[in-house]
Amino acid sequence: MTEALAHLPNFSQLSQRVWRVLGLNPGKFTLQGTNTYLLGTGAQKILLDCGEGKPEYLDHLETSLQQIRPDAFISDIIISHGHRDHWGGLRDILKSEKLNPQNNLQIHKFPVPDGCKVPHMDQFPKDIQVHALVDNQIFNTDEVTLKVIYTPGHSKDHCAFWLEEEQSLFTADCVLGHGTAVFDDLSEYLNGLQRLKSLHPKQLYPGHGPVIENGEDKIQKYIDHRLYREKQVTGLLKEENARQNGLTPLEIVQLLYKGYPGSLHLPAAHSIVMHLVKLQRDGHVIAAEEHELVTENIHKIVETKWKYILQ
Ligand SMILES: [Zn+2]
Repeated sequence: MTEALAHLPNFSQLSQRVWRVLGLNPGKFTLQGTNTYLLGTGAQKILLDCGEGKPEYLDHLETSLQQIRPDAFISDIIISHGHRDHWGGLRDILKSEKLNPQNNLQIHKFPVPDGCKVPHMDQFPKDIQVHALVDNQIFNTDEVTLKVIYTPGHSKDHCAFWLEEEQSLFTADCVLGHGTAVFDDLSEYLNGLQRLKSLHPKQLYPGHGPVIENGEDKIQKYIDHRLYREKQVTGLLKEENARQNGLTPLEIVQLLYKGYPGSLHLPAAHSIVMHLVKLQRDGHVIAAEEHELVTENIHKIVETKWKYILQ
């Protein structure tokens, strides 16, 4: 049912100006591990994301950088979003004399908007100075012009990055090299995908998994997949019985994911909840009971009945 993951080398040059260094943290959610990218044709490199903090990663990054050229150094680390597998390696890197010889490495990340929560950000080291990314901000290094594209949806602080010279995109966790992505706000997530698609990217460099050719097509497929799910969900809620009694996200999952192992039902129900919340905002469905949208309460949310509103 699930395709095997392609093998990715721990270190590879992907283009004239992009190198991928794996975070050495393979897993169920991280696929082959988190991709971290080095950018720039000269000695000065930008590092995009820095893994989850596996002890072996530091040595691996140092060796990879040296392999590109002996005088290479990192001037900036840009963190795509607050999930730990994208920033956990930060403290090790800052201590490394090889990576940060002048001790003036700058860290950049989009701030979590007021009133929002991003999982893992409560563990982010408070003593590390972080410069706030701004939407459309531009970073330059040799033959690299990198533009920040704020794309909340996967998380409230998520950014993708446009590489002007290649007309390509670093998509972090909103488009993956394998399977589909998770999101915490479907409306924002879809808007983000539309924005990325409007750039007509050639290649995508995802936060996990291999490089994706035909980037624009892939983004359209992600959009289509979500819209198809939305249609399926409304279809079920429109059925006679569901109109009267409503359906819970878990019941919807049991109908839509027949034959899938039970262990996938809860994560799938989470994505159905996100669909229902979007449909509610769009004025198509209503929750039969009050509920709070916090992940800790997922068991409760998935048992709340939802109904379709007759137009
Ligand atoms: Zn993430």
